Amino acid sequence: MPVNSQESVETMARTELFVHSLHRPIRRAEAGAKTGNLQFHYAVSQILLKGSLALEAQLQEVLRLIGGQFQLNEATLHLLDREHGKEREVFTWRLPASPGAKMPPQPCRADISLTGSHGQVGVLHVQRDLPLTRPEEATLQVLARQLTGHIFQQEHIRFTEHLALTDGLTNVANHRAMQAFLAAVLPVAKGPVSVLMVDIDHFKQINDQHGHPLGDRILAHVAELLQEGMRQGDLVARYGGEEFALILVNTPAEGAMVVAERLRERIAGQPYVKGDTLLGVTVSVGVATRETAAGLDGIGLIRQADEALYGAKHRGRNCTVAYHPALSKADAAAVTPLQTGASWLTASADMVLATWAALAHQRDWPLPVDALISEILPSVLSGLIERLRAGTDDGGVTDDEAALVSLAQALLAAQVDPGLSTLQGALALRLLDETLNGLIDGVALSPIGTATLRQRLRGLLHGIETQVLLQALSH
Ligand code: GH3
Ligand code: MG
Ligand code: MG
Repeated sequence: MPVNSQESVETMARTELFVHSLHRPIRRAEAGAKTGNLQFHYAVSQILLKGSLALEAQLQEVLRLIGGQFQLNEATLHLLDREHGKEREVFTWRLPASPGAKMPPQPCRADISLTGSHGQVGVLHVQRDLPLTRPEEATLQVLARQLTGHIFQQEHIRFTEHLALTDGLTNVANHRAMQAFLAAVLPVAKGPVSVLMVDIDHFKQINDQHGHPLGDRILAHVAELLQEGMRQGDLVARYGGEEFALILVNTPAEGAMVVAERLRERIAGQPYVKGDTLLGVTVSVGVATRETAAGLDGIGLIRQADEALYGAKHRGRNCTVAYHPALSKADAAAVTPLQTGASWLTASADMVLATWAALAHQRDWPLPVDALISEILPSVLSGLIERLRAGTDDGGVTDDEAALVSLAQALLAAQVDPGLSTLQGALALRLLDETLNGLIDGVALSPIGTATLRQRLRGLLHGIETQVLLQALSH
């Protein structure tokens, strides 16, 4: 039963009086007593030296030993949680009840403080029928010193380990701890292991606008939200700078995407509160999964999560992208047409965006993915294809532009029959994403704001792509 530190101090004061009152003349100064004491302390040392036992388990064994040695009815050890100034009970040893045995109406109790030069680490409470003799009390005092030194040393080791493995600013695991965790988990994990790379969006701007100290607090705020949303057994680490790596054990790709999206939405939905101002923060997330034990090592997994994160940044930030080999290929394919095919983009902008804006206005957002796929995207794509065809008639198209038309058509076909070609669909979506974003960049919009439109468009494409990729992954 934990008690607060004030109570603990009072307990100690009472204890001294009480222990003092227990003294009685020593009737027997047995020659063998000293030898017995030595054996007792030796036995205690043996337990405390058992490296295979955690501190708590060692102390439990010691309590049992004390119980037997002093014929106690009960022994309890309260360790002091020095960080929070509270006591926590480690273990209560009670004499196994023998049939017919009765607790005396007023058992004798003594509380022995475990206090060393660095302060108090705990209190040992003992209880038995008869008062302690002076020699017994002296033995317990030596034991108290033995335990105090040991507990203090163990706490110190734990604290040093904690410092070595924790990021001082955000209080989550640091890079070293993350590498150690991956190295420990990957060789033994039988199920899938996923890595989420989370990077704060436009963090440099936050620093520039509000100063680094506030930037630091926002980092801690994001770390806290990430930590809160995680299961026990998973790890949240600060990878470096404004990037975090999350390791999800026994989590397949689909599950990792769900977790990533939940965390991303949670962060976007909980701005940092600075006085009466709310500072919105968003993150981009890259997800990579090692599905079977024979798969990637830690470096490969992080590299893939990084690539996916790069994809999420590329997509416009505040979104999640899962790694897929097709993504890298699509990235390579997507960049060229966007750059070289700029001529028709401006020309077709009005029509596509007008279609888009009209459709977006009619509906509440966000829409279910099914509706996006079946209603909105085909309309936008049909408009785009028509417009591109018109461009062809007008004055010829480059090879890249022709490739865009066929990819957009392929995408449409893939969406009409999702089983047709998910990979082709994924490639086309990547390409279309680039194209439409380039298109938005080139156009001043009204009546709906460019930012809103961009966000909706990205949401749409992202939702569909995730669906398509998940489908591809599950095949
Ligand atoms: P992006 O959306 O592309 O990720 O843009 P970004 O601005 O977040 O990325 P960039 O890499 O340009 O900038 C990262 C910034 O994070 C720059 C650096 O000063 C800041 N940063 C890194 N570590 C810390 C830190 O511990 N505290 C603070 N306040 N800022 C940090
Ligand atoms: Mg970064
Ligand atoms: Mg960033």
